[in-house]
Amino acid sequence: MRKTPISLRLMKILVVEDEHKTSAYLKRGLEENGFVVDVAETGEDGSHLAETHSYDVIVLDVLLPGRDGWNVLTGLRRRGIETPVLFLTARDAVRDRVKGFELGADDYLVKPFAFSEFLARIRSLLRRGSARQSTVLRLEDLEVDLARHRALRGSRPLDLTPKEFQLLSFLLQRSGEVLSRTLIAEQVWDINFESDSNLVEVHMRRLRSKVDDPFELKLIHTVRGVGYVVEKRT
Ligand code: CA
Repeated sequence: MRKTPISLRLMKILVVEDEHKTSAYLKRGLEENGFVVDVAETGEDGSHLAETHSYDVIVLDVLLPGRDGWNVLTGLRRRGIETPVLFLTARDAVRDRVKGFELGADDYLVKPFAFSEFLARIRSLLRRGSARQSTVLRLEDLEVDLARHRALRGSRPLDLTPKEFQLLSFLLQRSGEVLSRTLIAEQVWDINFESDSNLVEVHMRRLRSKVDDPFELKLIHTVRGVGYVVEKRT
């Protein structure tokens, strides 16, 4: 059976934690277990990342400078971002726990905790998350709904061929990463690059003519001599 890029992608986790020692420890541990990890040190940065990238789980510290974890969570849920959230806190008051759940947290872990327990909670949220199936990938005003097989820019539907849709989904799943033509050919076409060196470029040009050309904000960028990256550049 043909491989789909969806099953090959790495799980992406956002850690919002202001204590550098803790965030570095969690990041290293998660990466050793095969996850891709982004870290934000303030609630503000965390919300921004969560709104502009797709994550499989968000780890959210309650006590953050500026916007606290509760405030961040409320904002995300209000915007319809349903990514599972694991709350981290030093406080173990029942009141806090109840408040976290009321606001839409999916799980709650009290510091200090063992990494093995943290990892088990993450895995359990991932299982629940995939059952609930959050299949919408977003970057700025670009949205790809994998379940409905629909791509939108702003509120305008993009008329993509199945291959272009698959290519765009793959790029968006790995947004912010530079992807080589070889990797794209392998993942999207299931072929070796050598067999048709022009294939990726041709499709990429067509995709950009639909996704980027009619719009002011360009999201697909060429990285000279390497490949492509999908991201917002200011
Ligand atoms: Ca903190």
